[in-house]
Amino acid sequence: MPTSTWAGFLLGSRGDYVPPGRVARGYEEESWGQLTALRAALPDLPALFEVPIGVLQAGECPNGSRVYFELTTNVPSDANARAPQGSLFGEPCNLTRQDAGMVWDRAVKSANQHLNRHLPNLAVPLMIAEVPQQALLDHYNRQLAALGSMAKFGRFSLDSYELKESPIPRRRRPSGASAAPSSPTTPGPNVAPDGHWIAFDAVPASGGIFEAKLTLPPDNVLRGIFAAYALLAEWYFEIDFDLGVSLSWNGTGGRPHAAPHLIGQADRQHCLSNIPLLRTLIVQGRRASGLRRRGGIQWHDVLDQPERPLRLSTCPTCKFFSPCNPR
Ligand code: SF4
Repeated sequence: MPTSTWAGFLLGSRGDYVPPGRVARGYEEESWGQLTALRAALPDLPALFEVPIGVLQAGECPNGSRVYFELTTNVPSDANARAPQGSLFGEPCNLTRQDAGMVWDRAVKSANQHLNRHLPNLAVPLMIAEVPQQALLDHYNRQLAALGSMAKFGRFSLDSYELKESPIPRRRRPSGASAAPSSPTTPGPNVAPDGHWIAFDAVPASGGIFEAKLTLPPDNVLRGIFAAYALLAEWYFEIDFDLGVSLSWNGTGGRPHAAPHLIGQADRQHCLSNIPLLRTLIVQGRRASGLRRRGGIQWHDVLDQPERPLRLSTCPTCKFFSPCNPR
């Protein structure tokens, strides 16, 4: 769990934050049932055909094009993924942006784990041997100190053990991540965000989603990522997940930058509206071409590309702009 950013969020919003009403909740959403019904109605779909989380996170589109490309096209989310990163953690580096992003993810994950181990001792800072990237170390120690002051001055009652990691089970299958339970006997989202937290001392208990990104994606894309994870986490934990925190390196002056995000109703609905779009794609594709029964079947064997849609305002930030070529 991203304890330091959780602490940052507490500093900024706890006590003042009243979550707005949300209708679409993962724990009461019928869309998971729609996915199950879809499978039942289309028994010829290969057993390992999982619905990737990317389908929920695909974002706004005039038709099923984003869902289609999410399932059939391997396009990196960063159009400049192979471009040189130039520098990382304030030092020159010769990695691509994609590889630098993975180094960033690993560094943040490791720092989170070290901080989780420190939590009973809020007054003891992390050491450079634990977090070797100086800028990351400084960031985490600032958050740790803030958390220590809050506990000291009684801004909230907090058992630091409650901040420890409690990971969502990760059951990623070789064929792709599933966005819904694959069977009633294996409940739980098969994908996980970079971290999550649950404030058990809040009434009612509530949770949040953490994402570490070297460079933040466009805002609408990031909102879709948080919303999809929130829906899955709500389904799994049966509590509200209204808040997200990102930790990125694009802050002012090239420092780690933690930012809060409210996970809104509209973004949840965009995620969920992609499930009926997927159903339509499957039904129309099967009707048009039939399902070839052979080994190694892929989504693009089952689906037909939707008509080239009209361009809308979110198209310029869509990673599928090039293969889609909207009118
Ligand atoms: S470019 Fe526009 S129309 Fe095409 S998939 Fe992306 S959002 Fe949809």
